[in-house]
Amino acid sequence: MCRLFLFMVALLTVLPSVGAQELNRTYEELLLGTVKPDGWLREMLQRQRDGVTADLDKIYPQVVGERNGWLGGDGDQWERGPYWIDGLLPMAYILDDPSLKAKAQRWVEWALASQQESGQFGPVKDYPKEAGIQRTNSEDWWPRMVVLKILQQYYNATSDEKVLTFMDRYFRYQHRTLPQKPLGHWTRWAEFRAGDNMLVALWLYQKTGEKYLLELCDMLHEQGWDFTHMFLETTQIGELSTIHCVNLAQGLKEPVVYWQMRPEQRYRNAVDKCFRDLRVHGGYPNGMFGGDEALHGNNPVQGVELCSVVEMMYSLEEMIKITGDTGYADHLERIAFNALPAQTTDDFKEHQYFQQANQVSITRGPHNFDIVYDDTASLMGVLCGYPCCLCNLHQGWPKFTQNLWYSTKDGGLAAMTYAPCHFTVNLQGVDVTVTEDTCYPMDGIINISLSMPKRKSVTAPLAFRIPDWAEEAVVKVNGEVQPRGEGNMVTLLRTWRNGDAVTLDFPMSVRTDRWYENAISVERGPLVYALKIDEKWEKIELDPKEKKGDYYWQVTAQSPWNYAFRFKASIEPQKHFTVKVDSLKLQNDWYWSAQDSPITITAEAAKIEDWTLYNGDTGPMPFSIKRQRIYNGRSSHSSGGKFYPVELIPYGCTTLRISEFPLVTR
Ligand SMILES: [Zn+2]
Repeated sequence: MCRLFLFMVALLTVLPSVGAQELNRTYEELLLGTVKPDGWLREMLQRQRDGVTADLDKIYPQVVGERNGWLGGDGDQWERGPYWIDGLLPMAYILDDPSLKAKAQRWVEWALASQQESGQFGPVKDYPKEAGIQRTNSEDWWPRMVVLKILQQYYNATSDEKVLTFMDRYFRYQHRTLPQKPLGHWTRWAEFRAGDNMLVALWLYQKTGEKYLLELCDMLHEQGWDFTHMFLETTQIGELSTIHCVNLAQGLKEPVVYWQMRPEQRYRNAVDKCFRDLRVHGGYPNGMFGGDEALHGNNPVQGVELCSVVEMMYSLEEMIKITGDTGYADHLERIAFNALPAQTTDDFKEHQYFQQANQVSITRGPHNFDIVYDDTASLMGVLCGYPCCLCNLHQGWPKFTQNLWYSTKDGGLAAMTYAPCHFTVNLQGVDVTVTEDTCYPMDGIINISLSMPKRKSVTAPLAFRIPDWAEEAVVKVNGEVQPRGEGNMVTLLRTWRNGDAVTLDFPMSVRTDRWYENAISVERGPLVYALKIDEKWEKIELDPKEKKGDYYWQVTAQSPWNYAFRFKASIEPQKHFTVKVDSLKLQNDWYWSAQDSPITITAEAAKIEDWTLYNGDTGPMPFSIKRQRIYNGRSSHSSGGKFYPVELIPYGCTTLRISEFPLVTR
């Protein structure tokens, strides 16, 4: 009996699917523009809009201006114009900003109107090489994948039926053409990024049920880079230089995207193994991994490219919707609340190509990056490093906002990540306004209130993720504690009335974790805390011949950073740290700078005198003790018995920082 069952299961997993098969998905997006950011998240989006997103065509006219190939011009015809709109368009609808919408509309309409009889679309002419302009063959599959993501979001905001017809014609063209001109025919980027193409094809499949779309996805899976094999059968994630960091951040979702239509467990296992291996071999407390630009291990002075930050977030957002896996949501918050805010200036006018988990001097120099771009890769600038990030960074915050709440298959709502916001949706014929009032991630209390017409009620499930770190989480409805049940989701199925309130209380105690050379991170809730360093910012002019922008910011340390923690064996690590909450700053709409941080963690630290600057970075990481109770040796270079008071602030509030600290005995 049991064997027969297993056989049937095995058979089902290998049989090709027929007809309009239902995809394996847990959640669906709300219409784009439904979720409105409040508090710090609104401020963040507005700063991004005013700093870099609204006027990138004026900041970077030579590439995303009038000459861009995706507006019919003779200029850049690769990814950079579409990258920008992939973030500008969702921002336009989320902020309900008419001038941004108009800007996005031009690109959408040009793309729709460019479709040829064959179904192909986009630039058609090949121009000679030109400095600063990116061109591959105009037929390359890759930049079209970004445009497909734009059009999918546009449909999700406007329900413009033209998008569905357009996509159907293009995917039929792709289905016909891929056998002769496979994904890697022009460049290899399309092979690594096939998952993005597949996501949109499967999205259309949900709308049309056209079987050829599943065949197309099988083809994309076959022709694309075999991430499943890479993660399960090779040790490449643990080796250096095996894959480009953005290709990995973007491509790692492919097995899960494909799992939607071919639900074999190995696709899920592959991505889980990738994350476990990345944690060991490349991981940082900020949620990212070392890759500058090839994989470069987990030494906290290696670089993290901004493109890989926003692409990893997008991959996680898509995988959360497909699987409902709360672990992916924990990971998404770790990146969004730590790595992302740290890599741009407060006014979003400058960003870093590479950030470091331990970053004590942002100076012109090679540091220890694989690729150095005239030694500008770590500078806070406009075009320092390589220009992809200037164009691609826009998607980070808008898509995070769009993914705060989902609709569920049983007619309810699910909150998988948290930030202040509000929205109105129709549940079973009743307009319900949900308001999420919170200072999260600085504070762990989330108040969610429901309002609807007074005599109406709605019976529907509301589901909430309990973060994995929130061991003492309490969920209340109108003040009454609710049973938590198993797992990290709490689903409240009840009849909701006007004025009902859900309170999520996620107590945030300080905890530590281990990283490179057994260094420790200090964490509280979803935030990593880093050493607050006095920073000196100097604006340095650039030679126009360098084509890296007019200037950059050099940031150097004006206070010591070579601290280690020293716990006595009898003291729990948590008791070493004191949390100070500034309740006035907590009420502000901007947290993300050293002076605006509402939370400070104080502690006493030892100094390691011979841990010094080396080539612009923190020198070799001092060894840490592993198990303090059985350790008999000494870290001989710490400051004897002397302690110094130190302040830690959220990683996302820092520009210079230590986020991985040695742990010593003496
Ligand atoms: Zn980039």
